[in-house]
Amino acid sequence: MSMDDAELMNCPARITLDAAQQTFLDGLPAAAPAVRSELGCELERGHDGSHAALAEQVGETMWWAQWTLSASEINPYTWCPVKRDRPAVEPECSLFDGHPGRHTSEERYWVSGDAA
Ligand SMILES: [Zn+2]
Ligand SMILES: [Zn+2]
Repeated sequence: MSMDDAELMNCPARITLDAAQQTFLDGLPAAAPAVRSELGCELERGHDGSHAALAEQVGETMWWAQWTLSASEINPYTWCPVKRDRPAVEPECSLFDGHPGRHTSEERYWVSGDAA
C-alpha cells in the first residue's frame, strides 16, 4: 500500500480547537508543547462514533480531541493495547485504547488476529 492509499482511507474530518481547549493543552506538562490549533481525524474513513485526533502526549497518557458535528472535548487515553500486547505479531497501533474501526499505523490498517 502506498502512502497515497493510506491518506485516501483516512477520515477527512478536521477540528479547530477553541481557546479553552488550547489553554488546557498548553497547561499540560508535556515534553513537546507544540500544540496545533487545527487537528485532523486519525481514524479510518467511515468509522463509528466521534472523530478523534491526538492533541498532546504526557508520559503514558495521550490526550485526544474527540468531536462530533455538535460538540468537542479532550479526553485522556492510553495506547491501543495491540501496541503493547502483541509486539511480535502485529505492528504498533497509533490509536487510543478502545478506538473504533481497524487498527492504524502510519502505513496501513488491519484487523487484529484476536477475533474474540
Ligand atoms: Zn473521523
Ligand atoms: Zn488499535
